Amino acid sequence: MDLTLATPVQYVPRVGPARAKLLAKLGIETVHDLLYYIPFRYDDFSIVSPIAKVRPGETVTIGGTVTAFHNAFTKSGKKMQEVKVSDESGTLEVIWFNQPFLVRVLPVGTIVRLAGKIDWYGHKLVMSSPSYEVTGRDPVNVPPAYSAISPIMTGSRPVIQSLHTGRLVPVYSETAGLTSKWLRGRISFVLETVLKHLNDTIPESVQSDHHLVPLARAIQSVHFPDSIVRSETARRRLAFDELFFLQLRAWHERRVWELSKKSHACRIDEKKVTELIASLPFTLTDDQHGSIKEILHDLTRTYPMNRLLEGDVGSGKTVVAMIAMYVAHLNGLQSVLMAPTQILAEQHHKTIKGFLEPFGISVALITGNRSMNQESGIRVKLHPGILVGTHALLSKKIKYQRLGLVVIDEQQRFGVVQRGTLEEMTKRGNTPHLLTMTATPIPRTIARTIMGNLDLSVLATIPGGRKKIKTWVVPNEKRDKSYPWITQQINQTGGQVFVICPLIDESETLFTAKAATTEYIRLKSLFPELQLGLLHGRMKPKEKTEVLDAFRRGDIHMLVATPVVEVGIDIPNATIMVIEAAERFGLSQLHQLRGRVGRGDLQSYCLLFTEQGEERTLTRLKSMETTHSGPVLADIDLQLRGPGELFGTRQHGIPDLHVARWTDTALIAETGKSVKELVASDPSLTAFPLLRDKLGESTIKTITVD
Ligand code: ADP
Ligand code: MG
Repeated sequence: MDLTLATPVQYVPRVGPARAKLLAKLGIETVHDLLYYIPFRYDDFSIVSPIAKVRPGETVTIGGTVTAFHNAFTKSGKKMQEVKVSDESGTLEVIWFNQPFLVRVLPVGTIVRLAGKIDWYGHKLVMSSPSYEVTGRDPVNVPPAYSAISPIMTGSRPVIQSLHTGRLVPVYSETAGLTSKWLRGRISFVLETVLKHLNDTIPESVQSDHHLVPLARAIQSVHFPDSIVRSETARRRLAFDELFFLQLRAWHERRVWELSKKSHACRIDEKKVTELIASLPFTLTDDQHGSIKEILHDLTRTYPMNRLLEGDVGSGKTVVAMIAMYVAHLNGLQSVLMAPTQILAEQHHKTIKGFLEPFGISVALITGNRSMNQESGIRVKLHPGILVGTHALLSKKIKYQRLGLVVIDEQQRFGVVQRGTLEEMTKRGNTPHLLTMTATPIPRTIARTIMGNLDLSVLATIPGGRKKIKTWVVPNEKRDKSYPWITQQINQTGGQVFVICPLIDESETLFTAKAATTEYIRLKSLFPELQLGLLHGRMKPKEKTEVLDAFRRGDIHMLVATPVVEVGIDIPNATIMVIEAAERFGLSQLHQLRGRVGRGDLQSYCLLFTEQGEERTLTRLKSMETTHSGPVLADIDLQLRGPGELFGTRQHGIPDLHVARWTDTALIAETGKSVKELVASDPSLTAFPLLRDKLGESTIKTITVD
């Protein structure tokens, strides 16, 4: 069978179904994936030396003939292989431990290359546990000339046949049953057979402008470079491609969105909007004004808004969304505000109803608690009103009428499936405008790269400013001292306490609920004089509401909760935030949790408990003590942990990078500029059929927030 890039990897010679399963674990499904399986480092075995010239401490490659093989034992009784290898200059002893099978691989007379470190073993100079590569059999057992291996060093083209010695040797992430050595063999095979089929889709002008090496050469030398410099040039080329396509695709999706989706274009009644804003009990911040302007401008267009409103907890996102919903109402359109939890939905409902009912607008609450009959009633009554609720809003039983605007609060809490349903619910007729809100900031560099189809508004300030929340990382040995301090604070100031229990998973699990329950019982015995409450996602909605009401009234001093509970909850009298196992959280998430205190006038505190003494962990957590800006913390997290672990990364739809790094801002800027220039000169990519094909390959998901 002829191999192509798309061929399942199982059909590569010497792979087969069993190994294909193992390869799948490494994310390798096709021949293409194998080509793009990039080594994470190289062993430098490029120094080739005649045996007589090896020196202790050197890592070298030697070549010669096996002249003796003994299975022996060490003093402690371990199995040991003693092998003598000779070239024209001399003989070297080579040892392995516990590899008795080698006698079959390297019998006397084998011509072999060995790469490894030269060291003393007792008073003898040996090469210990080297990589080996059999290059032939020597029936007459004449030591080959040292020059026999010198072709590795000559010529500008790397000699690919030498895979494991005598060169920079690629080392790959392995999985049980698949070694780097084996991967090297298969990768070198597909390089030889398939590389020529690889299409270089990056336009030539771009390649020359940015001094890129040709794609095939890049792939070749990222695996088998003849120098570190070559491997770096190769990586730069592959990283360039990756970032280039991410940005081109984002731009393309945006264009498809704008050209193909229709929405209700709203008229903005400035006078009425100003009236509503004037009726609010506070003055909007400049950021709120700015975001409202951006959002309302989106609403006037004939294609749907797809905007993300980002702002720390307490930055006042709800009222911004509410003004957009008011404009939709004035245009005879229904709007929906979806919150991730019942309690938040109730809170939003209360707020919005309070502000909008005086203007004659009906605001309904839809949560899982209501029967669907009531919901059908609501929809008739409500047109063109506002529906606030949980994911119950997605129920098929609700027939929306002229749905013009969908607002999703804390969008990272909604799974992809639910966003899919949102698409279903709006299928008929126009696409509603979409506004998503989040307190999880996306690091700037990432936002710029991938958000081509999503506009971003940011509330960077907190209304009225906010006292800095004093934050301390509390190591284990100081934990006991902090409890009396907490009691004292409660007694002196009357402030209340949140205790957040470890994050087990990003979704609420039984395990998380258990952890909170256990801690609740423990703290109850520690603080017999206080009233404690427990809140986790496995409780019934009614129980949750009761506990939160009691906490709000001040009947509960200390609320033990799981991290995913009630993201945006507003309790001004809460002044202490205790977070258990803080090291398990991303900085952005810690910042969000911390934002639940410090909402009133009292000085507030955040205690980050950790049992981990590792310096890296402590340094990361300690940035919470000095930094109080969400976006800055997100950037620190990106630098320290990488986006893979960044809280909310997956939910924001941020893709994993294979070769490029999110921290490589220079290359991100360079590729961004390149994409911009290209599409400015040729928006339909008419002159670039290869690029068009490549964009067409992926089904374009223009819908919802991704
Ligand atoms: P979040 O961005 O976390 O969702 P909210 O919308 O819940 O924040 O707002 C937090 C609190 O601040 C609410 O009580 C809200 O009424 C109030 N608020 C919003 N905007 C302002 C403002 N400009 N000045 C004072 N308070 C405001
Ligand atoms: Mg909120």
